[in-house]
Amino acid sequence: MNNKTTIYKEALTHPIFEYISKAAENLKVDSYVIGGFVRDFLIKRNTKKDIDIVAVGSGIKLALEVSKLLPTQPKVQVFKNYGTAMLRYEDIDVEFVGARKESYHFESRKPVVEDGSLQDDQNRRDFTINALALSLNKKNYGELLDPFDGVEDLNNKIIRTPLDPDITYSDDPLRMMRAIRFATQLDFFIQEDSFESITANHKRLDIISGERIVEELNKILLTNKPSKGFLLLYKTGLLDLILPELTALNQVEEIEGHTHKNNFYHTLEVVDNICPNTEDLWLRWAALLHDIGKAPTKRYSKRNGWTFHGHEFLGGKMVKKIFMRLHMPLNQKMKFVQKMVMMSSRPIVLAQKEVTDSAVRRLVFDAGENVEDLMTLCEADITTKNPNKFKKYHNNFKIVREKIIEVEERDHIRNFQPPITGEEIMEIFDLKPCREIGSIKESIKEAILEGVIPNEYEPAYQYMLNKAAKMGLEVVNKK
Ligand code: ATP
Ligand code: MG
Repeated sequence: MNNKTTIYKEALTHPIFEYISKAAENLKVDSYVIGGFVRDFLIKRNTKKDIDIVAVGSGIKLALEVSKLLPTQPKVQVFKNYGTAMLRYEDIDVEFVGARKESYHFESRKPVVEDGSLQDDQNRRDFTINALALSLNKKNYGELLDPFDGVEDLNNKIIRTPLDPDITYSDDPLRMMRAIRFATQLDFFIQEDSFESITANHKRLDIISGERIVEELNKILLTNKPSKGFLLLYKTGLLDLILPELTALNQVEEIEGHTHKNNFYHTLEVVDNICPNTEDLWLRWAALLHDIGKAPTKRYSKRNGWTFHGHEFLGGKMVKKIFMRLHMPLNQKMKFVQKMVMMSSRPIVLAQKEVTDSAVRRLVFDAGENVEDLMTLCEADITTKNPNKFKKYHNNFKIVREKIIEVEERDHIRNFQPPITGEEIMEIFDLKPCREIGSIKESIKEAILEGVIPNEYEPAYQYMLNKAAKMGLEVVNKK
């Protein structure tokens, strides 16, 4: 333990701290700000700050007293079962908890809880850098309480548990995910004992819900370099439990001197590549999953070498299974990821050849409003180490993007509505619903996508008349 006293009053400039301090004094309890807020202050990390407060006494009572003192008297949300309470002041969420001692049962991450001292509460924290506390008490306002040398770990960029890592991780296996998530977010190292302990305990993850696992995965995906986190998940064995579809990509086979690329490392590169170009979590998920169909579709033949026929389609289907298994939302977000995976090879094929208007029109037709996202994904997918190819593909994609704008302005394909409806066709030729109507509609659509006619009513009408005449249909009601 570091005996030096350090005061960080400058961390507590926000007026909320004075109110908490005063409220705690009124109730004659000690209070401290603890965890992420203190950590991020010390490393000058600017994120939206939620504040965690520990009261040596009742956290709920302290929250209620703070609310009473605040000019806005905000509503206090009380979670009786957890002994915690929350209130919102200005744009900050403040969470209150009573200092506690925890003990765990093997089969659950829900601890048995009893009241404790500040030190007990610091012992139950996941990492030394998350156990740092600043006093809000009059006698030592702003004093840093750092029983595990968390500051030193902050300086050395180390993730370490306050207690024996085997106990910390086994007690609450979610901490394994959190260790890797913090290592990725902060670009820290996981201390060796901790790393070994995570590896040894990785199977304990099975008592953690999909929702919680995904919460951490999402945070990893939203960093600047998610590959760091995914490699750690991989090396500790966790990724095999969470996304075996991904680890299945980590193999390179050789037959008759022919190999294929390692699609696991390729995927991680694609995920890192897409980060500067999108903050969208779901597009990043699409990057992560874009090649998962490759393991089950991989074949070798003398004639064609290594192939992955239909991997996009199969990959799309696998997306849904993964989302279900991990209890992720099965809504538009899932559909979006699925669509991106299913279409992930389309622009590449396009960019390898000469870029024609009709191919671009088809791409815009099929991708609809997601066409830019699809282009962003495919640009990130270029991981060739051959500088000539790299340049060529990027140039081709630039042409594709320009053509998309051109074709869009001219033909409005994105939210394609056929210029002539089925009802109109029925009316003109006096038909009941039948196969011919669909076939006429389809041929008009094809003619537009192929650029035979523009996406306009009059040319479509003339085209329809020709097509219908060939089918032996006669106009009954002229328009
Ligand atoms: P951020 O909010 O930036 O992700 P944080 O450190 O504030 O980081 P929270 O999840 O908000 O993380 O938790 C607040 C604090 O509660 C942590 O700093 C840590 O001290 C403690 N904590 C949270 N989850 C656990 C856990 N599973 N085991 C032990 N302590 C935890
Ligand atoms: Mg927090």
